[in-house]
Amino acid sequence: MFDNPIFIPGPTNVPERVRRAMNVPMEDQRSPNFPKLTLPIFEDLKRVFKTETGKVFLYPGSGTGAWEAAVTNTLSPGDKVLISRFGQFSHLWGDLLVRHGMDVIALDVEWGEGVPLEDYARILNEDSNHEIKGVFACQNETATGVTSDIAGVRKALDDAGHPAMLYVDGVSSIGSIDFRMDEWGVDLAVSGSQKGFMMPTGLAVLGVSQKAIEASESATCNRCFFSFDDMIKTNKDGYFPYTPATTLLYGLRESLDMIFEEGLENVFARHHRMAEGVRRAVIDGWGLKLAATEPKWYSDTVSAIYVPEGFDAVAVLRIAYERYGLSYGAGLSKVAGKVFRIGHLGRISEIQLLGGIAGAEMAMRDIGIDVQAGSGVAAASEYYRQTAAPIAIAAE
Ligand SMILES: *Cc1c(COP(=O)(O)O)cnc(C)c1O
Repeated sequence: MFDNPIFIPGPTNVPERVRRAMNVPMEDQRSPNFPKLTLPIFEDLKRVFKTETGKVFLYPGSGTGAWEAAVTNTLSPGDKVLISRFGQFSHLWGDLLVRHGMDVIALDVEWGEGVPLEDYARILNEDSNHEIKGVFACQNETATGVTSDIAGVRKALDDAGHPAMLYVDGVSSIGSIDFRMDEWGVDLAVSGSQKGFMMPTGLAVLGVSQKAIEASESATCNRCFFSFDDMIKTNKDGYFPYTPATTLLYGLRESLDMIFEEGLENVFARHHRMAEGVRRAVIDGWGLKLAATEPKWYSDTVSAIYVPEGFDAVAVLRIAYERYGLSYGAGLSKVAGKVFRIGHLGRISEIQLLGGIAGAEMAMRDIGIDVQAGSGVAAASEYYRQTAAPIAIAAE
């Protein structure tokens, strides 16, 4: 099989620089030198989360671990919480809340839309006794390629004068789509290493506000491995309460360097441009529909694409994989067999994406879907050409 990039929305392609940075001998995680690696990582993660007042914790784990850390440290069984569900990931976080014994108000929204701000505003206004302790929002629903307005959720809380904590799933957005922890008053900001951070899976990354740390002192859910308290006590000197994933920390150091060398805002702009090319391919080139129902929901990290009625998206994925060595994201749960997804987050260039678009086009044609050969590539490549950085071309 050829060494093609993968077009799934996580894990993303790990840059060679990051892979090499992880090729290190094992070392003592209690050595006097170790904090020279870890303390600057904590500071740089705060720059990515855009927080000066909060902390960022790193647990060995995946995004799901950060979900659990956020909940178990700050809530007590029986607490009332508000969440909206519009895709596999928002559903799973809601399920985690149920399993930890929360009293969950779950709003089911059409898949293809995002956080229903008006419903949040109404419910928060009606909750005059402030029984709701946590408000949950998925910034980027990876199953449908839908981005929600987190500043809007903050506004709904502020307009209602509501003190609930704000929990945001930013696993497939932080480091790729703008995220402002302090400005938006996010109390718990969940991420993982294998998406925007261009890393292998293995680190749960969690941004925590001072308010969340205070809440953790009285919240009664059981916690041990994920305890904020143990993290705070050891992290302050650059250490961890248990063996950290040292190798991954070296990779993260390199990935943070790459993000800041490019510039965080430039990284967001690049993701937007990559995504826009894919959307041109889907809509203008192929004449197909995105799962996201309106431009305001469009995600800059993943596009979920409906295959036409009567065709099976699973067949597109299988042919792409077996004939061309290409991987796209599968449709999950409710949209299984109906959509396939192109991940365009992390380290990915327009030329790589054009390959991904071409491969999807070939696989769709192979199963008889009526998309014109080259149409998606043409729409995307023209967009990329028109929006490429200007360079001076010397006259002959
Ligand atoms: C990937 C993802 C998760 C969970 O991630 P794991 O790392 O698989 O545990 C959660 N939320 C969103 C939005 C994701 O994309």
